[in-house]
Amino acid sequence: MTPFEFLLPYSLDEALSLLDPEDPNIRPVGGGTAVMLMMKAGVLHPTRLISLQKIGDEHASVGVNTEGDLVIGGLARLADIECHAAVRKDWPLLSQALRGVANARVRAVATIGGNLRHADPHLDMPPVLAALSARVVITGPKGSRTVNAEDLCTGYYETVVERDELITQVTVPPQAGPGHYLKLTTRAAHDWPALGLAVVLKMVHGQVEKAHFFTGAATDRPTRLVQAQTLIEQRGFEPDALRAAGEAAVHEAPLMGDAHGSAEYKSQLLKTALPRAIDIALRRSRSHA
Ligand SMILES: Cc1cc2nc3c(=O)[nH]c(=O)nc-3n(C[C@H](O)[C@H](O)[C@H](O)COP(=O)(O)OP(=O)(O)OC[C@H]3O[C@@H](n4cnc5c(N)ncnc54)[C@H](O)[C@@H]3O)c2cc1C
Repeated sequence: MTPFEFLLPYSLDEALSLLDPEDPNIRPVGGGTAVMLMMKAGVLHPTRLISLQKIGDEHASVGVNTEGDLVIGGLARLADIECHAAVRKDWPLLSQALRGVANARVRAVATIGGNLRHADPHLDMPPVLAALSARVVITGPKGSRTVNAEDLCTGYYETVVERDELITQVTVPPQAGPGHYLKLTTRAAHDWPALGLAVVLKMVHGQVEKAHFFTGAATDRPTRLVQAQTLIEQRGFEPDALRAAGEAAVHEAPLMGDAHGSAEYKSQLLKTALPRAIDIALRRSRSHA
């Protein structure tokens, strides 16, 4: 292994000052679960790793602000978000999806900032946060900017985050209505998905007013299923409309094959997953009403 520096800054400013916009071998480390795997696989040869563990507890906090938004520090661990009382009560889609990410040991150390920056297309959280209309705060030498979670990933392991920037916060507005994340795996239930599908339905007087459908794992980034959303918004949840939405999703999503299945296999998954995810979301909300 090539020797590397391991630095432990004690503030956000200090951490930012140690990053380098030009050097891909200088990396921040959140939980380190993806960094260590990339190093073991020989695809990352860092010259400097900057641990974010000591930059301040405020960056690892989870809470609700006065507007009722969930505010998650970039260093918050996935397990702390999953188990937070407010998340369990008011953002049930988030806690449901988090329970299926990897395993308890990974969730106990992995951070939301590291998760989102990693941008492996198979990650479960990016489509979920996009469906929840979350916003991501990115901080760099020139200050902070906010992007919609929907616009964070730009391709295979690519995001809009620059090398000298850090993800410092994720803000999630109140969950608009019933939601579900369907994670379809080919082996164990908590394995990497062959297809991920997040749905959120904003309901008014029992009718759907706005649908948010995002697929992941089968595309190179979380992808909004615009035509399928419109179909459901116009025609509701009749069986024909659900079937048509599944078909529309398959035609509009740029599906890609990988080790978890061919593009054709994933198109069959998506066609049936969309009606199923909607059905589960609606049934679950009725049982909690
Ligand atoms: C055994 C195993 C199984 C897994 N299964 C699943 C699964 O089923 N579903 C799933 O979604 N995921 C799965 N994962 C992936 C896991 O979710 C990610 O590894 C984890 O979320 C990354 O978070 P981290 O804090 O450990 O990131 P790190 O490894 O610390 O960092 C990941 C990347 O982000 C950068 N980075 C870290 N923090 C920040 C920050 N605050 N701002 C900007 N850049 C940053 C790093 O430089 C690196 O490029 C699995 C991982 C393992 C090890």
